Amino acid sequence: MPNDPVLVVHGGAWAIPDEMVNAHLNGVRNALAAGWTVLNRGGSALDAVEEAVVIMEDDDTFDAGRGSFLNREGRVQLDALIMDGATLRAGGLGCVEHIRNPIRAARKILSESPHVYFVCEGAERFAAEHGIPLCKNEDLIIPREVERLREFQARLSDENPDLFAPTISHDTVGSVALDGAGNIAAATSTGGTLNKAPGRLGDSSLIGCGCYADNESAAASTTGWGEPIMKLVLAKWSADRVAAGNAPEWVALEAISHLENRVNGHGGIILLDAQARFGIAHNTPRMAWAFKTATQESSGIER
Ligand code: ASP
Repeated sequence: MPNDPVLVVHGGAWAIPDEMVNAHLNGVRNALAAGWTVLNRGGSALDAVEEAVVIMEDDDTFDAGRGSFLNREGRVQLDALIMDGATLRAGGLGCVEHIRNPIRAARKILSESPHVYFVCEGAERFAAEHGIPLCKNEDLIIPREVERLREFQARLSDENPDLFAPTISHDTVGSVALDGAGNIAAATSTGGTLNKAPGRLGDSSLIGCGCYADNESAAASTTGWGEPIMKLVLAKWSADRVAAGNAPEWVALEAISHLENRVNGHGGIILLDAQARFGIAHNTPRMAWAFKTATQESSGIER
């Protein structure tokens, strides 16, 4: 392989409680293993981020795929984006309710559609026509989330509910990768925010907000409170800073400071360039992350 591959994954940034730490660490480690298998056999960064994200969509621990947060009507609505840094091809979808692995459908959009982004029924129809099985919305709902929504909605009548505190869970998942051919890619998948209005779309699946990849700058995946991240187009903002000559390790920190200082946002980011330099940063108490290079492997919940 001309280049040594790199893979970084995250499983959301928030105040992950002690009793949920192991589930988060296992989840990001499993995702890392799946993505690394692809890179190690000479596969593409695009395939690696897809496989890593599928593992976390399938894991109930995270706010992606089955086990996602419920919207205020008690339904799961999912958003995802995948982007190829070599060609800038991207596939995104928003507000889907009947797809277990939205990142697989996003990949089909990237590979097999002249369009870049689909929403709602049209996205589901595209997925079904391209071999992605549809499921019932109830198949994506788990009792933990029914209870979480019930508790949250009960608190809405409190005098000062802090509905956007960093302690509110943000378990969106994402991955960035560099492959042996020197190409980078990014993928992000989410159930969005708890109690969101039906039809609300967050940052995660929007190009340049929750996900971005360009070999000439960087690959990024963000997580956290989506509205502030969208306002800053944070993934693209970060990639541009890398293109201007700044190291991803530093830019990741800078991006999170910018998020906090400019729009009082909170969240996390993983950022990787085609020179194998990467950064991981968050301003929430914890963020689940894992990375692997040819010589190093690590995971954790604080950075
Ligand atoms: N950023 C996601 C959204 O606002 C939520 C998350 O990261 O957990 O939809």
